[in-house]
Amino acid sequence: MPRRGRLAPTPTGLLHVGHAQTFAIAFQRAAGAGLVMRIEDLDGPRCREEFVAAAIEDLRWLGLTWTEGPEIGGPHAPYRQSERTAWYLDVWRRLEAVGTIYPSPHSRKDVEEAASAPHETSRPNVHSPAEPIFPIALRPASWPRASEPGPVAWRFKVPYGRVITFHDALCGQVSRTAGVDFGDFVVWRRDALPAYELAAVADDHAMQIEEVVRGEDLLTSTARQLLLYEALGWSPPDWCHTPLVCDAAGHRLAKRTGGLTIRDLRAAGKSPQELL
Ligand code: GLU
Repeated sequence: MPRRGRLAPTPTGLLHVGHAQTFAIAFQRAAGAGLVMRIEDLDGPRCREEFVAAAIEDLRWLGLTWTEGPEIGGPHAPYRQSERTAWYLDVWRRLEAVGTIYPSPHSRKDVEEAASAPHETSRPNVHSPAEPIFPIALRPASWPRASEPGPVAWRFKVPYGRVITFHDALCGQVSRTAGVDFGDFVVWRRDALPAYELAAVADDHAMQIEEVVRGEDLLTSTARQLLLYEALGWSPPDWCHTPLVCDAAGHRLAKRTGGLTIRDLRAAGKSPQELL
């Protein structure tokens, strides 16, 4: 049964064949139920207008269409995250009110040092090796109530040891353990912007998304996001995580990967049908 979905590109580079695969699957699965185009442009200087235009043009060239988006409007406008910050602040307030988030002044370096200290028992992060699991020792015992986030990052207090299990349309049953696979995660950045997890949940809820289709690299994020849905008292969407596309050498495609952007393949004479 088709379900209302979304395409959520981050305009920090050109879309590659991995994005084409994810977005084509999202398009097919949402057929007739509504599809939102949402530009995830919170990462200020790295997001560029030319990549917003390129993403829209490349997806249209592939034959994908959407029913709401930045260039066509719709009932859930605006469709650019950089224009939705008042809503994210509202969600921050709801989380603060239920006491599940706390201010965390620790830098990335503090976290790395604490995570590698000899007494620290947390395991390496198997899902994102570059990102150590936040050590529980850095979580404060208490903190005062706040009415604004202020110039500090805020983290979500995860239930250490709890197994979060969900069904995925392509991956089947997926489980992640809080405190083992991921730790207290940032929901609000010290530069006064929401972190990805908060913005994604806030928008998928507000835009009434019924099924989230995105890359498998976000499976652990889904476990984190399920904790946010629970804390906010919202029912989560269904999930469909798509396989990652690798290049001939077996490396996952990244924005910097040359030669395999939708544009490159188009310039090399491929048709949308061949690509799909
Ligand atoms: N904006 C993210 C990306 O381009 C996708 C996030 C999501 O689908 O939740 O990788």
